[in-house]
Amino acid sequence: MKIIRRPEAMVAWSETLRREGVTIGFVPTMGALHEGHRSLIRAGRLRSDALVVSVFVNPTQFGPGEDLARYPRMPDRDHALCRTEGVDVCFEPTVDAMYPKGYQTVVTVSKIAQRWEGERRPHHFQGVATVVTKLFGIVQPHLAMFGQKDYQQAMLVRRLVQDLNLGVKIAVCPTVREPDGLAMSSRNIYLSEEERTIAPLLYKSLKAGGEAIRKGVIEAAAVQNTMAAVLKQEPRFTIEYLAVCDPLTLEPLAQVTSKAILLGAVRLGSVRLIDNLIVSPPRKRCGKEAMEIG
Ligand code: AMP
Repeated sequence: MKIIRRPEAMVAWSETLRREGVTIGFVPTMGALHEGHRSLIRAGRLRSDALVVSVFVNPTQFGPGEDLARYPRMPDRDHALCRTEGVDVCFEPTVDAMYPKGYQTVVTVSKIAQRWEGERRPHHFQGVATVVTKLFGIVQPHLAMFGQKDYQQAMLVRRLVQDLNLGVKIAVCPTVREPDGLAMSSRNIYLSEEERTIAPLLYKSLKAGGEAIRKGVIEAAAVQNTMAAVLKQEPRFTIEYLAVCDPLTLEPLAQVTSKAILLGAVRLGSVRLIDNLIVSPPRKRCGKEAMEIG
């Protein structure tokens, strides 16, 4: 496996492969790789000839007072995982190489970035959209893998690629979870032992909301109450949002009559957890079935 640090060297590598007709898959990450990242890497490996993983803790997507300085960095472990999974290139640019003196361009995706994470983390999605656009320009992938874990981010990237005609296919891979349901995240290491034991309650609350929908509850407010009731069992949680949304636009729904996404964000001590669940309401009986039953 090659480790490339200079963007120009990365561009040259990709251009050579593209000229040879090789399809390039890409998994952008901030490192501290875990099983969630591994699943993206495996999905990319299956679907492309050559695979690039980037490890870049992008400062522009962190707000003031967020965890940029303490974000876990473990390059040796990351390289070992990438080697085991047959990654061809680990692209690890420096902050100065990505944002050199004189840098002044940002990418803003307007509507889909406004609510939920965008509201709680101003400028976060501008940082994400900018770095993803830059990374796509440098790596020039045919296909890029993103995790459902960061659902709003994945939808924003899809929008960005479509709006700017970037020509990269976006695959969204399912969330990988710990055995107790907690979504894997590089930030889970911030949880104390005690916080770790109650953290899976966020997913439990989403599942309770999903169960209500599957049983025929239609009103989004009732679904939200069901989710909140689960989290309120544990006073150490502060709910940031529990939302029932359209899965493409992420606009809140008043009623669930077709596929929906449940989004949740909570604070647990100093740690922020996010998770989501895609749900579908029970299928309506069609007239024929109803007649047969009658
Ligand atoms: P990060 O390193 O946290 O920026 O994440 C890099 C990519 O991995 C993003 O597309 C994430 O959505 C994805 N990812 C993070 N955690 C998980 C998980 N538990 N399951 C699947 N994908 C994940």
